[in-house]
Amino acid sequence: MSQENQPLKNDVSLNLADVQTRIITVAQKWGRKVEDIDLIAVSKRQPVELVRAALQSGHRIFGENRVQEAEGKWPQLKSEFNSVKIHLIGPLQTNKAKEAIALFDCIQTVDRMKLAKILAKEMRALDKHLPVYIQVNTGKEPQKAGVIPEDADAFIKTCITELNLNVIGLMCIPPVSEQPAPHFALLAKIAARHGLSKLSMGMSADYETGIQFGATSVRVGTAIFGMRTG
Ligand SMILES: *Cc1c(COP(=O)(O)O)cnc(C)c1O
Repeated sequence: MSQENQPLKNDVSLNLADVQTRIITVAQKWGRKVEDIDLIAVSKRQPVELVRAALQSGHRIFGENRVQEAEGKWPQLKSEFNSVKIHLIGPLQTNKAKEAIALFDCIQTVDRMKLAKILAKEMRALDKHLPVYIQVNTGKEPQKAGVIPEDADAFIKTCITELNLNVIGLMCIPPVSEQPAPHFALLAKIAARHGLSKLSMGMSADYETGIQFGATSVRVGTAIFGMRTG
């Protein structure tokens, strides 16, 4: 990509400030506390200098969707900046579970029993009990990860009571061709049944709706960093 097409570093801090201002406005509108809403800057497939710009402007929570890609940039960045938290927001292969536990601070994509069991086992072995989210495939899309809503209750229960995973909330990615609101409402309803306080929902196009329906994390990539490369 040519230099001209790259978002300027300057833009990253302006974009971050803009997204944060919108979060405050929407939180006020719907009677939400702004401190209950984390902005996760999704840095996947973004040039490292833009990620560094976000860090330099004080941002500390990031989302990545691939273990290997995250391993290539975050150990260095974490050594340069304090208190950085990285959330895994993409599908996790069981053979990468150990590496993911070592690298990430939160895993948002527990989406099947085989993975849940391996994460539980590896977390015990490493004595590192990361907070996790269960990913729910609210739109029941065959190509999308996540447990379907009908299976969610049993799955969540097993993860908590049998596997002793530190389940703190639920995460979803609504179908692109549908209104996100009913999906967010459904996710909130399932979480409430289990007393789970965290909801990761909303991306660049729909984070305001996510906040309206109770999001405690919004995962925003392009609105902060611009179009992804690669
Ligand atoms: C890439 C990604 C995002 C960020 O999407 P944007 O539209 O760039 O904000 C959020 N959540 C997940 C799970 C993603 O994979």
